[in-house]
Amino acid sequence: MPTLPLLASPATYNPHTIDMVADPEARHYWIDVFVNHLPSLKRHAIISEGDTDDARRRVDAMAAQFSRMLDTLRAKADAFGHLSILRICELREQCLREHHIADPYSHIKLMENEACLKLLPGVLAELDAMRDPRKLLETLIVGVFAGNVFDLGAAGTLALYESGKMDYHDVRAKIKPRPWVVDDLGLLEGRWLDEPLWKKAMVLVDNAGADVVLGMIPLCRELAKRGTQVFIAANTYPSLNDITFDALGPLLERIAVFDEVVRDALRDRRITPIASGNDAPLIDLRHVSEELAAAARGADLLILEGMGRAIESNFDAAFTCDTLKLAMIKEKHVAQTLHAEMYDVVCRFEPALSDER
Ligand code: MG
Repeated sequence: MPTLPLLASPATYNPHTIDMVADPEARHYWIDVFVNHLPSLKRHAIISEGDTDDARRRVDAMAAQFSRMLDTLRAKADAFGHLSILRICELREQCLREHHIADPYSHIKLMENEACLKLLPGVLAELDAMRDPRKLLETLIVGVFAGNVFDLGAAGTLALYESGKMDYHDVRAKIKPRPWVVDDLGLLEGRWLDEPLWKKAMVLVDNAGADVVLGMIPLCRELAKRGTQVFIAANTYPSLNDITFDALGPLLERIAVFDEVVRDALRDRRITPIASGNDAPLIDLRHVSEELAAAARGADLLILEGMGRAIESNFDAAFTCDTLKLAMIKEKHVAQTLHAEMYDVVCRFEPALSDER
């Protein structure tokens, strides 16, 4: 798989940001995170596989295998080579695949996409009625943070979802006020409101449901409306509740039925869904799909969204184009490393390293 051509220094790029071989405290913290998440993964995996005896048997075997791997890693950090959050995610996906568990959160993703499609016309009408471009940009960014709360990989947001109390408008109203813990909105605003517009944006999205439908699609739609060619890259393979490429295309087509901005943008290829090649909630940008690498060539804006892609694997990665990293912090360890608190939000904007733009 090719390297993302936008990486500023592929030779020194490292998506395995926390070296758990060198940091036992981090290792035990993260192994606990994965252990504590397993009952929910099992529950959803059984449902998604049809709730049969065979499904239960395969899910139990998967969980036992993954638990054994985690026990091994607790005792011997380098048992499977280097160790990072991304590496443990990869091991989990490997266990799921070996037991033919295709997509443990498929039923929830479908249900959430449907529910959010009903809310989207209202959200778009509210955005389209905004006359102040600064207010519009801030509302779009806050909308992304609110959508990113739909994350079934983090304990706090998983509990909120399962309690049935996750309401998009309510969540959006409660996003922490500015200044955020990383707050480059002013810098972004300068670029956003200035000519020239970005010619081509590569946008790596995170979760299904509110995240992509009510957060990222409105942001991409606004970019496309202003004339930027936007590629929306989603995981090729399922991972937690991340939106997949196979689901993203039909979702955009559904939106095109009631929204002419998205309809025109899809027709004119100002919005194009694309498969990233990824199979994890984090992303190693040294190994992306051929399509993503080809489409990214010449992009002057990269957006990385979600804790996994924007922080856990790429927070310090530098790129040759303007880069926007957007995420809500949903793990204590991630919060600590950023001197932040839980549910703080990150809006990091880094202008292109070269001044080709
Ligand atoms: Mg995710």
